[in-house]
Amino acid sequence: MKFDTKAVHAGISHDPTTGSIVPPLYQTATFVLEEIGKDKGFDYTRSSNPTRAVLEDNVAALEGGKYGISFASGMSAVDAMLRLLSAGDHIVSSDDVYGGVSRLLDQIYSRYDVTVTYVDSSDPEQVVKAIQSNTRLLWIETPTNPMLKVTDLQTMSKIAKDNNLLLGVDSTFATPYLLRPLEFGVDIVLHSTTKYLSGHNQIIGGMVIVNDESLYKQFKFFQKSVGAVSSPFDCWLTLLGIKTLALRMDRHSENGMTVAKYLEGHPKVKHVSYPGLPSHPQHEIAKAQMKAFSGMVTFELTGSIESGIKLMNSVKLAALAESLGAVETMITHPASMTHADVPKAAREKRGLTDAFVRLSVGIEAAEDIIADLEQALAQV
Ligand code: PLP
Repeated sequence: MKFDTKAVHAGISHDPTTGSIVPPLYQTATFVLEEIGKDKGFDYTRSSNPTRAVLEDNVAALEGGKYGISFASGMSAVDAMLRLLSAGDHIVSSDDVYGGVSRLLDQIYSRYDVTVTYVDSSDPEQVVKAIQSNTRLLWIETPTNPMLKVTDLQTMSKIAKDNNLLLGVDSTFATPYLLRPLEFGVDIVLHSTTKYLSGHNQIIGGMVIVNDESLYKQFKFFQKSVGAVSSPFDCWLTLLGIKTLALRMDRHSENGMTVAKYLEGHPKVKHVSYPGLPSHPQHEIAKAQMKAFSGMVTFELTGSIESGIKLMNSVKLAALAESLGAVETMITHPASMTHADVPKAAREKRGLTDAFVRLSVGIEAAEDIIADLEQALAQV
């Protein structure tokens, strides 16, 4: 099956009892046993649930993977992955990761003696240099939140294999429609399904996808033991969202490119980061490994930080909001919103100044999105 067909059908069959075309929502905590030791494949929703199982199979198929494991949020999926490590282990991580990930690593896992070195993973030399004898995990976000740096997954896969490291990739910004990290030899693919996969700002969720059975068993064990699972209703809503993933990502990518080009040509804009622009430093890598470039655009104005704040307070169609990857266009100030918990010095070390504005370009008409930016830019 082609991707678009899988998005609608993979893992989904008509309900045998009623013929319902939409998979039933099994909103239940527990399942009645026929007798001791005899169930119908489910016993308690923390361990597994039929609606969640459909979502897990569907997303695994989209990633070209064997197993999907669904969590309550992108962050609980990241947390589950970090539970593969032990005290004394070391991580090499992309420096420009979502602020919640560095908060989890620096303020929580550091207490359990798990250490991390942040490097610009778009430069493989920096990655190799940071590897220590106790490094177990290479953690890559591509494209990154919010600077949209792109990392070459083929090269990362080779580095991970040569050094016997687990390789994990947060592919939230790309989605399986645009990039399938498992095809490059990545061990663990992670999504905040809150974003493009569900696509309508309707849920908080996370997912990991793996091919290796022993990794799958460990993630299933964490799901059941920790209990950070996605609710049946959230899984059901996510499944509905995924059906239009291919269509939405085409539109997000088309609009992303149109808006990025518009901003790049605007006299009040100093710099635009969008992997689809030839000016992006990793444009060639993005072109080689992604089908298109998604809907995230980050930019800096020529004026001071006040200009950026004025812009964000002046938009009318775009929503000033924390999230991304939904049908609505959203605008964010990473330094005070999504990355506020990353200390200013650490933010600036990775190039994330207070002047950056992040735009999650929605699926509205590009003309309307641009007209909104135009009127807001006129005010700064
Ligand atoms: N990964 C990326 C790239 C994100 O942008 C986010 C949230 O913004 C997360 C992970 C965390 O996901 P969630 O908010 O679903 O916990």
